[in-house]
Amino acid sequence: MKALFLATEARPLVKVGGLADVAWELPRALRALGVSVRLALPFYPSIDREQIAVQRVIKVEVEQATGSIQADIYQTEISNLPVYLIDGDPVRRTYSIYGDPQFEVEKFAFFSLAALKMCQVLKWKPDLIHANDWHTAPAVIWLAAKRAEHPFWKSVASLLTIHNLRYMGAGAERAMEQYGLPASNDKRLPEWARNLPLPMGLSSADWVSTVSRSYAEEIQTPAFGCGLDGMLSALRKKLTGIPNGIDVEDWNPATDAALPVCFSINNLEPRNEAKRFLQEELKLEQNAAIPLLGMVTRLDWQKGIDLALDALAGITQRAWQFVLLGTGDPNINKLVYEFAAAHTASTRAVQRYDPQLARRIYAGCDLILVPSRYEPCGLTQMIAMRYGSVPVVRSTGGLKDTVAPYKTDDGGTGFRFDSPDAKELRDTLLAAFEVYQDRREWRGLQRRGMVMDFSWKHSAERYSDLYQDVCAKRLQE
Ligand code: ADP
Repeated sequence: MKALFLATEARPLVKVGGLADVAWELPRALRALGVSVRLALPFYPSIDREQIAVQRVIKVEVEQATGSIQADIYQTEISNLPVYLIDGDPVRRTYSIYGDPQFEVEKFAFFSLAALKMCQVLKWKPDLIHANDWHTAPAVIWLAAKRAEHPFWKSVASLLTIHNLRYMGAGAERAMEQYGLPASNDKRLPEWARNLPLPMGLSSADWVSTVSRSYAEEIQTPAFGCGLDGMLSALRKKLTGIPNGIDVEDWNPATDAALPVCFSINNLEPRNEAKRFLQEELKLEQNAAIPLLGMVTRLDWQKGIDLALDALAGITQRAWQFVLLGTGDPNINKLVYEFAAAHTASTRAVQRYDPQLARRIYAGCDLILVPSRYEPCGLTQMIAMRYGSVPVVRSTGGLKDTVAPYKTDDGGTGFRFDSPDAKELRDTLLAAFEVYQDRREWRGLQRRGMVMDFSWKHSAERYSDLYQDVCAKRLQE
């Protein structure tokens, strides 16, 4: 089985959010199962060319309305994973990974089509194209539209994974046409969606997956379907939810070099020092008895940061400390800074991308908040549990699938609340603070989280089976 994995970000080269973790860890987990996966990424100007040993392998031409555009294909290998980096004018035009929709769409349509062309020129024929989110959906759309005319592509299957349904590629209409991908006439799609890459991809892909069982169900309902619930429900027979995993070797508090002390499930005492150290690093009162809460997140409406701030503001009857590490939406950033300014003794807002500090937050906090309005899978709650932080999550999507609610007498791995409502979150936090007072109960909660197996193994096996099934189905068509 050969598969080309298309993504817009992947560690260790480029990371904005969780997709970068998935696009780095899943292909390697699949390779460990014997699937010959190769990864393709845009060669962004921000990727440090000095740091990686790249080799320019070929150049290909990508056709579009006003003539063809050259793509330069580079190759490298990272931890035995072959990686193609695709360069060209549309990729070089902007420095940021995401941003202005007009340039974004051009960049990613160009990248997606160049990746296909590359396979042809290299004569490396994958059995399956695995596209991720709207950005690489153009590859799936092209394949469905053109494979009948191309013997090379005729038997090649496609899988489109939705990591976040809300982003569909708005503003893409012109660029899609430009690259020879005219609007869909699939009547199952609402009219407004017929020229957007993600909905077009849903209509074109041989199979669709998303990143948790619950999110796969939720997106078939109006509350979570972003207007595509009818379409998603119509294609539910070819829609699968496979949860993301985490790289348990990389995320390991027993060996993590970013931590001041290492600890494990059998030796949790040093974790107290990780908390003390974090309080010191953040210039918070060094007090073991005050519950320390953390968030490591993109600043986005999705993540319910406003709910967390409102909930904490409502807790005046007892002490808490809060650290938020995140970058993103300037409006949310402003909210966070105003909150931090009003709670100088208890709150630290760190507005940067800092993977090392993130690790110390997971290791040193008592609670990690994930009050998302929707959450396709979520990685932070799984990392938190692995590091002995107890997650407080909204019961939605992957959060619901990975965090079992606390019950007295040794049950559950975290705290859950149902509605995206600050009062409900506040009450849940107060309940968590009560349990926190009981050291034995708390240790039990931490330990039950730490033994959970969130490794990629099971999910990679499911993807491998799905690849086989989708390819077999394609061959029958
Ligand atoms: P999403 O993909 O929606 O952003 P996830 O929970 O799936 O959310 O993944 C977020 C990932 O990004 C986690 O690995 C988290 O630790 C990391 N992360 C988010 N913001 C930051 C930041 N400011 N600094 C370091 N790591 C971050």
